[in-house]
Amino acid sequence: MNGSLLFIISGPAGSGKGSVVSEILKRDDRFLCAVSATSRPCLAGEVDGVNYYYLSREQFEEKIRTHGVLEYTEYCGNYYGTPTSEVERAKALGKHLILEIEVDGATQIKRQRPDAVLIMVTPPNAAEQSRRLHSRGRDTEDSIERRLTRAKAELEYLKNYDYLIINEDGRLDKATDDFFAIARAEALRAARRADFAAEYFGEKK
Ligand code: 5GP
Repeated sequence: MNGSLLFIISGPAGSGKGSVVSEILKRDDRFLCAVSATSRPCLAGEVDGVNYYYLSREQFEEKIRTHGVLEYTEYCGNYYGTPTSEVERAKALGKHLILEIEVDGATQIKRQRPDAVLIMVTPPNAAEQSRRLHSRGRDTEDSIERRLTRAKAELEYLKNYDYLIINEDGRLDKATDDFFAIARAEALRAARRADFAAEYFGEKK
């Protein structure tokens, strides 16, 4: 693929977006997923610098002041944001960058980077989302209710997105194939090849 592309993947809790991202990275090492910064505590099994960069609220606010984050939001009382350095890291490595972020941050990025490709991953329907949240046994009934309610607001943002991937149960491979179909088509977009005529005629830029 030509040039580094920027993909944003969002989706309601239980959409399986994290599994789709893991599968993309496993299949193709030309893709890199940004490590976000957060002020939420590090959970059991998570590692600083791998899952997130864990910062205090004060440290995070300092990053906001010094433009150390490309976008940020407050989600369930904690800050989450994409460190600017992650974009530079992907560029230096010549990789396509994936940001797995929520809908508000995705909208902020699209404003700054209209070339970013916004992809929403969802379960097939609300009943399936509820079943997944119950079966993973991580949340209280209260928190499940909150996440289901939030899905309504999240899906309102679908109109800002470029693509929708429906992640059916047991069909992770298909959802991942869908991502690669999108990535391939996006790389072939004529608008991304403004330099092609000069290249074709062997002219210098
Ligand atoms: P969790 O606490 O479950 O890891 O993440 C909560 C939500 O924050 C998820 O929807 C996740 O996609 C989103 N999130 C993670 N990192 C970022 C980020 O850098 N920016 C934004 N805007 N959202 C993020």
